[in-house]
Amino acid sequence: MVIKPKVRGFICTTAHPVGCAENVRLMAEYAAARPGEGGPKRALVIGSSAGYGLATRVSAAFGYGTDSVGVFLEKPGSGGKLGSAGWYNNAAFEKLAREKGLVAESICGDAFSAEVKAQTVELVREKLGQVDFVVYSLAAPRRTDPVSGEVYQSVLKPVGDVFRGNTVNFATGELTQAVIEPASPEEIAGTVAVMGGEDWVLWMQALSEAGLLAQSVKTVAYTYIGPELTHAIYKDGTIGKAKEDLERGAAQIGELLAGKGGRALIAVNKALVTQASSAIPVVPLYISILFGVMKRAGTHEGCIEQMVRMMERMYRGTLVDEAGRLRLDDWEMESAVQREVADIWAKVTQDNLENLCDLGGYRHDFYRLFGFEVPGVDYSADVPDELI
Ligand code: NAD
Repeated sequence: MVIKPKVRGFICTTAHPVGCAENVRLMAEYAAARPGEGGPKRALVIGSSAGYGLATRVSAAFGYGTDSVGVFLEKPGSGGKLGSAGWYNNAAFEKLAREKGLVAESICGDAFSAEVKAQTVELVREKLGQVDFVVYSLAAPRRTDPVSGEVYQSVLKPVGDVFRGNTVNFATGELTQAVIEPASPEEIAGTVAVMGGEDWVLWMQALSEAGLLAQSVKTVAYTYIGPELTHAIYKDGTIGKAKEDLERGAAQIGELLAGKGGRALIAVNKALVTQASSAIPVVPLYISILFGVMKRAGTHEGCIEQMVRMMERMYRGTLVDEAGRLRLDDWEMESAVQREVADIWAKVTQDNLENLCDLGGYRHDFYRLFGFEVPGVDYSADVPDELI
């Protein structure tokens, strides 16, 4: 079958297995060229099939020789019926890691459920013995409470006031005003339940109770802060409330790990094109402007560059803010970068959009998430059923 991208709203409903595999190979090559010392030996990565979680797993495996178990939720490909991009990313990761002689095992299922936690505990026990690194990198629209069965939804809304701001449809290039009503108390609570720290704590408790946490274990989860112009929709919005709860979770886990000399860390990452961030109003326009500015400044990074830098900092112990958070958004937040972003933001109109913003770069990264527009891949070639 010849596979072409089919974009609907914020997602692409097709994925290219060969392109996804090549993406992962390029990430592995990047990490392997920057090996580190004193890193983790055995990792569990929750949310390992895409975005920051995949990049962390690749960075650990190929930069530090880390054995790993990954957990994700993806649609399998089978019998000529296409799976999701993360399915192919994971298959490519496992193949490359095993060729390098590493343990690379995965579970595809709902990480929020007690069943998947129990299965993972058994797999970690069997394949890794213990873990000294746990990455929590889920981005999900909903979560079913493992005890009550209640289904929580995550929403991307402002808190308190109506939000009005420019946003762009990156597929059509149409610039519009987004008007978003503030979230209700239930919506705030729902977003916190999905994207906050509760599930991370449950994972760490399950691993601790099973005796699977090694001495000096480190665990990390990811957040975003961003500049003032995104605050109403991000930092001060529903997702920001969830991220505050994630930090509360880090403190709770820190207490759990104290006896082992372990640490729970939050890394503040750069805004990047991933499936999760494409769905946030305002963010695609901000990212398009930011990417143009950072590319001109020579400081632009993608997920793998960010996570290689995160691992270096984590294992060299460089913590860069007062709250003990790893700041990988340092180059994004540089004042010269943010001044130029704010300047462009104030000037952008439909007519100058393509000139002032790196919308082409945004689209390219979006397509690459699904294995399209990857250099060196022949998209006119038939993809054999066994790869699908
Ligand atoms: P992503 O959409 O690229 O990946 C999400 C991962 O979660 C995938 O592996 C997916 O399979 C998994 N997942 C989703 N629901 C699941 C479920 N129920 N069970 C098991 N696995 C499930 O997301 P991302 O952008 O890499 O986000 C990861 C983290 O990084 C989030 O906490 C996000 O807020 C944070 N972050 C993202 C950005 C950004 O710009 N993308 C910036 C800073 C921080």
